[in-house]
Amino acid sequence: MSISQLARSIAESPTLRLNEEARLLREKGLPVTHLGGGEPKNKTPISAILSSAAKLTNADIKYVPTDGIPSLKKAIIRYTEENYERMVQPENVIVSSGAKQAVYNVLFSILNPQDEVLVLAPYWVSYPEMIRMVYGVPVVVTPEDGRYLPRMADIEQAVSPATRAIIVNSPNNPSGLMYPEDLVAEIVRFCECKRIYLIMDDIYHKLVFDGKKAPSAYKYTTKDIESSKLIIINGISKLYGMTGFRIGWTIANRKLVEVMNNVQAQTTSCASPISQAAAEGALTGLQSIVEGLRLTIENNRDVMMQELHSFTGVKVAKPDGTFYCFPDFRAYSANSVELSNFLLKKALVVTVPGREFGMEGHLRLSYCGSVKDITEGVARMKWALDPNAPNEIYIGDRKLVRDWL
Ligand code: PMP
Repeated sequence: MSISQLARSIAESPTLRLNEEARLLREKGLPVTHLGGGEPKNKTPISAILSSAAKLTNADIKYVPTDGIPSLKKAIIRYTEENYERMVQPENVIVSSGAKQAVYNVLFSILNPQDEVLVLAPYWVSYPEMIRMVYGVPVVVTPEDGRYLPRMADIEQAVSPATRAIIVNSPNNPSGLMYPEDLVAEIVRFCECKRIYLIMDDIYHKLVFDGKKAPSAYKYTTKDIESSKLIIINGISKLYGMTGFRIGWTIANRKLVEVMNNVQAQTTSCASPISQAAAEGALTGLQSIVEGLRLTIENNRDVMMQELHSFTGVKVAKPDGTFYCFPDFRAYSANSVELSNFLLKKALVVTVPGREFGMEGHLRLSYCGSVKDITEGVARMKWALDPNAPNEIYIGDRKLVRDWL
């Protein structure tokens, strides 16, 4: 069987693999605690259910325009106006099957082979692989030790004549940190000056804590949307906890959207109209759902911080948003893959190794589950690693004794 070299070289998605591993262990009856998840546990908003159910019951589910149902695009335009203070036209919007497809289509549409894209570590696992999938070259910018955000000087140094784009994900998966307003402003200006695309992956921009607000990159552009290389990606997965509906979108200049439209038309045609109806229902329904979800997650963040602060040797930056944090576990191991496997085997806790996000020695812990998941998960990790923690623990109904420290 022959498989292309490129396809063979693409790494499996570590987060999806871990979900599968956790599912298999649970199926065997093992009490796994999942701190690796990437989706809130809330139920789908009722306005989304009703809207997609209405679409289903009319039994007329056919292809729709490639770039999205006009009424959903209208809701996205309103969302953009409300959240970014920017009026865009339907020609600036394209709906895709998740923000993941949106990012991929953007990269496919802007890169020639060997073009470089700056990826700022720690980064979302899929960026480097997606860049390579369209024959581009990911150039990772790693901040100095102990920092989780780049300095402008780090970015400037990494730019070459082959650089076509920078991807910024803020608030950030995996660190939970938000790029401060002045850094966003500097990056926008820098990209404009260098004439490179700035891809803002804003999928977590409403999941922000402590009364903060994610800065809008539009605020700092001097260009109108048609001459701008600013691209905004967003979606309903994290905003409403609607990961299974697979709806995301891109806002960009109309020339790029036109090209993305052709790319999408030749690959997936359109995102499912049932999901698009759900997205429209969510965007036009009661927005208190977003606030409710945000408050729950903010409380979970606080619990996670409290638990981690009493973990000997573990350092963590307090997240501004998302449902992740990215503690430094180098006091226990420099090899995050080994550490994550050890924790799964010994303590039945799922964590994601920092290596996958471009930062060794860290683990991504997620607090999108219940408070019990967080307290129990961290207690088990402490039991497995921290010599100051009690050496006996109950996992499920089994009493386990630590005999390796
Ligand atoms: N960007 C980031 C930073 C993400 O964390 C994720 C989901 N984990 C996505 C994009 C993809 O979201 P979607 O479900 O809309 O494809």
